[in-house]
Amino acid sequence: MADLPKDTDILVIGAGIAGLCSALYLARAGRTVAVVERGEPWGDASGANAGTLSLQVKRPEVLHITRRAIELWQDFKADFGIDVGFGRPGGLRVATNAREVDMLRHSQAEQRTLGIEVEWLDGNRLRDTAPWLGPTVLAATWCDWDSYSSPLQAGRALIDGARRDGVAVIGGAAVTAIAKETKGYRVTTALGVIACNTLVIAAGAWSGEVAAILGVTLPVSADVNMLSVTEPAPHLIDKVVTHIGGILSLKQYPNGTCLIGGGWQGQGGLASGRKEIDHEQLMHNFRVAIGVVPALANLRLVRSWSGFEGVAADALPLFGPLPGRPAAYVNACARGGYSQGPALGLLMAELISAGRTSLPMERFYPARFAS
Ligand SMILES: Cc1cc2nc3c(=O)[nH]c(=O)nc-3n(C[C@H](O)[C@H](O)[C@H](O)COP(=O)(O)OP(=O)(O)OC[C@H]3O[C@@H](n4cnc5c(N)ncnc54)[C@H](O)[C@@H]3O)c2cc1C
Repeated sequence: MADLPKDTDILVIGAGIAGLCSALYLARAGRTVAVVERGEPWGDASGANAGTLSLQVKRPEVLHITRRAIELWQDFKADFGIDVGFGRPGGLRVATNAREVDMLRHSQAEQRTLGIEVEWLDGNRLRDTAPWLGPTVLAATWCDWDSYSSPLQAGRALIDGARRDGVAVIGGAAVTAIAKETKGYRVTTALGVIACNTLVIAAGAWSGEVAAILGVTLPVSADVNMLSVTEPAPHLIDKVVTHIGGILSLKQYPNGTCLIGGGWQGQGGLASGRKEIDHEQLMHNFRVAIGVVPALANLRLVRSWSGFEGVAADALPLFGPLPGRPAAYVNACARGGYSQGPALGLLMAELISAGRTSLPMERFYPARFAS
């Protein structure tokens, strides 16, 4: 484990996708950066997530961020020598009843007006594209951008990559107190005190807790998302699959395992720290998945788990300056934040280094919640 430096230019709190990507791009901008993490780096949502990078499931407000992020995911190897297990097979978003077909039409039209090309598939074209889909699937939209990366691979690779670029990534360093100094902040962690000029809160579902240490209220809650993985199987599902109405994300990795999730909720919450499987909800997840890809019924399940995903009151990212706290920023709570992580990291680096961002981000500033 790395030692805690006495000081740093920029201190990032939290070593998930938001914190590590912020650190990586800040280091590339020539800044000295340390990341302090309460537990193991990559030990929470980012390490537990499904790795789906789907553009067409995103809310219109964050489509531009997600599209930029997928470009960056794709370029990690070329830009940083970081192999995140990226694949871009494209994705199908399916509809299984008349109401969902209408919803899908509406979503396709909306995305087209925002410059995202999604193609309509039904009948023979749909069956030819994905013969493994079940008969309940009536139509789907196809998006060439939909991709995946491997969270298992990406975590290690991003931590190593950040360290290679000079970032100190320090686990076991829970932040417990923050004091404003004349210039910057003095941050107390479980491993000692570190001074910094600039602070970035990237503590995921706990970003509200960390902001509260600075006396700022952020409306953050957490979902308890569940995810399951099957035994390896012969290659069948050659696209990322999502569902307009049925809560599903599904894909088969190159090693043959299938990941089944989508956001079905487990039990527990931030207050108790419990995140447990809800078996009834899990059965719904499998029913939806098997309805869409019947061949899944023949596979054995290897493991199911759950993790906390931080959510702001309006389910949009918390990104930007912390109100009333100079040189303190937040990068947290993007819904499906793994997909958006690289872009939000790059944009945070731009904001801190240049005072402006290459994509419009003001609507995500935490000041929107200031009363
Ligand atoms: C089961 C599951 C499946 C998901 N699937 C997908 C998916 O397929 N695609 C997608 O885009 N998104 C998915 N998500 C959402 C995604 O994982 C999250 O949005 C994203 O990982 C959040 O990243 P983060 O860096 O903000 O938070 P985290 O990864 O949670 O990192 C925050 C870190 O801050 C640390 N921390 C907290 N408090 C302190 C403190 N006081 N001091 C120091 N460190 C602290 C935590 O320990 C943690 O490691 C999924 C989430 C879950 C749980």
